[in-house]
Amino acid sequence: MKGPMKRRILGPCATVFTAANTGSWRLERPDVDTDKCVHCGICSQYCPVDCIRVNKAEAKIEFDWNYCKGCGICANECPKHAIRLIEERGNN
Ligand code: SF4
Ligand code: SF4
Repeated sequence: MKGPMKRRILGPCATVFTAANTGSWRLERPDVDTDKCVHCGICSQYCPVDCIRVNKAEAKIEFDWNYCKGCGICANECPKHAIRLIEERGNN
């Protein structure tokens, strides 16, 4: 009967996980109606990839298009219905 199979260990292994560029998943993108937005930041709190910044100084909402995956959660959670999803045109 054969003994246990020997495995050759090649040395220390390291795996580096980098953040996926989830922006490439996007089919639609959020668009903010600046007349309705009150800069409350609720959309930012719910975004699963933390890609929304509320720029209160300039009174605008900024998205990191490298990570926004177009899931629509921000639009769903906005109490003022200030976000709608528009078709992605592929020009990040
Ligand atoms: S949740 Fe709506 S109103 Fe609040 S900052 Fe976001 S877009 Fe503006
Ligand atoms: S669509 Fe999704 S990923 Fe993009 S900003 Fe809104 S909540 Fe974040």
